[in-house]
Amino acid sequence: MGKMTRRDFLKIGFTGAALTGMGGALTSCFSPAPEVPRKMARTAGKPVTIASTCRLCPAGCGILGVVADGRVTKIIGNPRHPNNRGKLCARGHAGLNVLYDPDRLLYPLKRSGARGEGRWTRITWDQALEEISKRLAPLRQQGKTDALWVEQGIGGEQDLLFLHFLKAYGGPAVFGDSSFPNESRALGQSLTWGTEPLVNDAAKARFILNFGANPYENHEHYIPLAQRIIEGRMNNGAKLVTFDVRLSNTAGKSQEWIPVNPGTDGAIALAMAHHILQQGLQDAEFLNKWTNVSPAKLMEHLAPYTPEQAEKTSGVKAAEIRRLALELAQAKPATILTGRGVGGHRNGVLTERCVSLLCAVIGNIDIPGGNCLPRVMDLGEPALKTSFSSSPQAFSVLKEGKKKPEVFLACMANPAYANPGAGEVVQILKDEKRVPFLVVADTHLTETGALADILLPMATYLESWNLETRPAMDLTPFVSIRQPITAPLGKSLAMGDVVLDLGRRLGGDLAKAMAYPNCEEFIDRVSARIGGLAAGGGIQGLKKEGVWIQTGHRPSYRSFEKKGFPTPSGKGEIFSKRL
Ligand code: SF4
Repeated sequence: MGKMTRRDFLKIGFTGAALTGMGGALTSCFSPAPEVPRKMARTAGKPVTIASTCRLCPAGCGILGVVADGRVTKIIGNPRHPNNRGKLCARGHAGLNVLYDPDRLLYPLKRSGARGEGRWTRITWDQALEEISKRLAPLRQQGKTDALWVEQGIGGEQDLLFLHFLKAYGGPAVFGDSSFPNESRALGQSLTWGTEPLVNDAAKARFILNFGANPYENHEHYIPLAQRIIEGRMNNGAKLVTFDVRLSNTAGKSQEWIPVNPGTDGAIALAMAHHILQQGLQDAEFLNKWTNVSPAKLMEHLAPYTPEQAEKTSGVKAAEIRRLALELAQAKPATILTGRGVGGHRNGVLTERCVSLLCAVIGNIDIPGGNCLPRVMDLGEPALKTSFSSSPQAFSVLKEGKKKPEVFLACMANPAYANPGAGEVVQILKDEKRVPFLVVADTHLTETGALADILLPMATYLESWNLETRPAMDLTPFVSIRQPITAPLGKSLAMGDVVLDLGRRLGGDLAKAMAYPNCEEFIDRVSARIGGLAAGGGIQGLKKEGVWIQTGHRPSYRSFEKKGFPTPSGKGEIFSKRL
């Protein structure tokens, strides 16, 4: 017998049990909807191209979907998008496989056996949302809105209408799924510079130092960043040096790959800073004026962090560390990348801060070819309470019994698979005393979905609306639109549609806050508040082009000179009181 894959397991576990319990009636929950025939007859219908935004990773590339005979036939890059400039990764091109996957969830389901047993009943959206609103309404009336826990997976955290609903509901505990390398990076950079994620201006760099990132294969800024690195190397002669425990795609294409012991990048960064200071090659003006530690104080602090000490920890020869420190300090400008090799360890936050310290020492913050502060468009995204920093923290609180949700909504999130100690997460989610009501909203059946009380079939990113902004690689803010390239399959719905309906059911001020006839109308109204967009083609232009780049904005560097850094001291905080 061939090896069974995770997908096979889920399918057999789900449909097998469903067949036992329901006489096979639920197999259609996975099949393409009847109105979407598998084989389309070729007709003379002219293909139509619709601009939108990819949501398969945080990079948010601009895409063009080609639709022929009512079916999406191709996804290509949008050349007008300033970050990805018409290029996509293989995953972006393959988005059709998400849309037309025969295993997609297409109908709302309700658990009919024990939790996790795999027995389901197909229900209507009306039944599903009535059950959910019956749970949410009393929590709100009793002032217990923090008993609604919402875990958001990729893209969910940027769904504007959903965020507005959560804000209007009032104080639910909202947290992201388990991507702790990114969280470490975000926290380390925020503590130091007051903002994140910093953007590598690699196209203008002459030296690209990479601590454990793999942008040729995957990264928060993936395709946009990979393009700029290649430009920097081809047009600017930039040298790429990678510290990594393994020969990643990026390491393999670097001029130098230097293997390190896992989790020891911080020791190397400190030793490099030590050597640069010792040689008097630091950017003294930046350190004195824009950080809260003087070069003398820093040298004193870094005294024990010698290259020899780093060699013992990291396995990288002290002479190599000294050589690369000099190259980094002298080949101006230099940008420094970080990735999972930094953030994916217990010391991830502090290692990120060690790399930020090295940036401060060479003074490459917000300069051409350096590490730039992010420029994004203000879309009026509501600020939400963050009771937990992440899913693992929420589950650790649950495990200790310090708090518990009355309703747990996992939206495109799969903690039963993605969290560390996933087996324990499964046991917690199975326990109805600890999680009385579990709703899972997803495009596919996941390990978490298999434990749900109610399963909601979500529209994919190719079937839904949103406005999105990402840190501009070229420092001019932009907004991109996500709009349906095709109608949702089966009975799947976008989260925006779900919360519009829930708002109406919950009534009162929540109904008022959700008083939009549909998601498109909401997007139209939000876009009307974006300064300059009306004169730049308005929402119709945005729908046509897929993206609008702020006009009259000249990319400029050293933005901190106007208002300082958004930290408590207004400076880069090498020493942080918030730690
Ligand atoms: S890099 Fe990310 S956003 Fe861009 S096409 Fe690939 S998956 Fe989509």
